[in-house]
Amino acid sequence: MLDAALIKNQITLRRPSGAHMTVKAFQGSFTQQEPLPAAAIQAASAVLSGGRLHRYGNAQGEISQAAALEEAFANWQGAQFCLALTSGGQALQIALRAVTVCPGDLVLTNAFTLAPVPGAIAAVGAKAVLVESSDDLTIDLDDLEAKARSSGARVLLLSHMRGHIADMDRVVDICDRFKVALVEDCAHTMGARFADKRSGSHGVVSCFSTQTYKHINSGEGGFLTTDNVEIAARATMLSGSYMNFMRHGAGPEEAAYEKVRYETPNMSARMDNLRASILIPQLADLDENVRRWNKRHSVLVEALFGVEGVEMPKGHPKMVRVGSSFQFRLPKASDEKCRSLVAQAAALGVELKWFGAAEPVGFTSNHKSWRYLQSQYLPITDEILRTLFDMRVPLTFSLENCAHIGRILRYVMETEIAFDPA
Ligand SMILES: *Cc1c(COP(=O)(O)O)cnc(C)c1O
Repeated sequence: MLDAALIKNQITLRRPSGAHMTVKAFQGSFTQQEPLPAAAIQAASAVLSGGRLHRYGNAQGEISQAAALEEAFANWQGAQFCLALTSGGQALQIALRAVTVCPGDLVLTNAFTLAPVPGAIAAVGAKAVLVESSDDLTIDLDDLEAKARSSGARVLLLSHMRGHIADMDRVVDICDRFKVALVEDCAHTMGARFADKRSGSHGVVSCFSTQTYKHINSGEGGFLTTDNVEIAARATMLSGSYMNFMRHGAGPEEAAYEKVRYETPNMSARMDNLRASILIPQLADLDENVRRWNKRHSVLVEALFGVEGVEMPKGHPKMVRVGSSFQFRLPKASDEKCRSLVAQAAALGVELKWFGAAEPVGFTSNHKSWRYLQSQYLPITDEILRTLFDMRVPLTFSLENCAHIGRILRYVMETEIAFDPA
C-alpha cells in the first residue's frame, strides 16, 4: 500500500520504494462557462432597449430574434423546420405530444439518461419502458429490439446521454421494422455527428437544449427540429402561438395549420427575443467549440489511458462526439473504493459525479430515484452505473488544466485508498 498525506491542498504520495510524488489541488470551477461573445451582449442590449422581448411583439416588417434564430438553427442543423422553446425538457414534451403520444401509451427510452427525459414521458401521461445500456453508455440495441417487440410501443425517445451515440443505422432499422417513431434527445449532441449527418437527423423529430451547461448558452432554452410538416405545425400550436404561427422563421406553410390550429391546445413554451438574440451569435462559434471541447477531452483520455482497472467508452467509429463531459468506469471497484475515489478527487479540487451513489445529489440519472415510474428490472444498467464516473469539461479549462485534472485522477486511482480525506 502506498502512503500518502494531504497537506495544504496538495497530496504527497510516498511509494514503498521511498520515492515521493506531489500533486497540487486543482483550483478551477467545474460549473464556470465562458463569457458570452461580445456580439451576443450587443444583441441582447439592443433587444432590451427596444423593449420588444416577446417573440410576437415585433414591429411591422421586423423579423423577431426568435424567428431569426429558428431560421439560423434550421440551416445550421440541416432541418426543414425549427421551433425555439423555453427549455429542452419542454421540447421533449412537445415532441411527444406532436407525434400524438396519448395518456397511457408506452414510450421506449434509455434507462441511463437525465431526469427531464422520464419527466417528459410522465408529463404527457405516458409510461416509460426503460431499455438497458451498453458499455459505451448508449442504449442496448438487443434489449431495444426485444422491448420494441414485446411492448408494442409506438415511440422511442432516444437520449444521446452525455453525447454517446448508438449505432444509428441499427436504431433506425429497429424503429422501421417495428413501426416505432424515433424522437431524439440531443441535449448533449448539438454539433455531434453520426456517419456525416448531424446528430438529430435520424428520427422524425429531435430536441435540443440551450441551457447553460449544454453547447450553447441562454440560461434556459431549447429547440425542436423536424422535416415533418404536420409535426412542425402541431408543435408550433402547442408552444403557444396564439394564431401567430406564420411569424416563425422556419415553420411550415399556412395550409399545414388548416385543421391543426383548432385541434391543438396551447401549452405556452415560447422562446423570447432576449434569449434568442444571445443564441444567434453563438451558433457561429459552435463548430470551433466542438473542436475545443474534443481537444480537452483527448487530454483527459490520454491521462487515464492504461491506468489499471479504468475503462472508457470506445464509441462507434461513425460517431463524432462532443467531449463536453468525460466518463470512465472502474468495473471491478467496490462501492467503498468508488466513494473514496470521489472524496479523494474532491479533496484535490476535482468534482466527479458518481452514478452509483445510493442517493441522488445535484442530479438524477438513476432510474431507482424516478419513483413516479413503475419500477423496472435493469440489472445491466445497474451494474454499469454502479462504477460509472462523470465530469464536466467546461471550455474555461485550458489544456493544461485538463492535464492537471488527469494527473490528479491518475494518482488518486493508482494510490488505492491511501488516506481518508475526512
Ligand atoms: C439537460 C438535458 C435535457 C433537458 O434540458 P433542459 O433544457 O435542462 O430542460 C434533456 N436530456 C438530457 C440528457 C439532458 O442532459
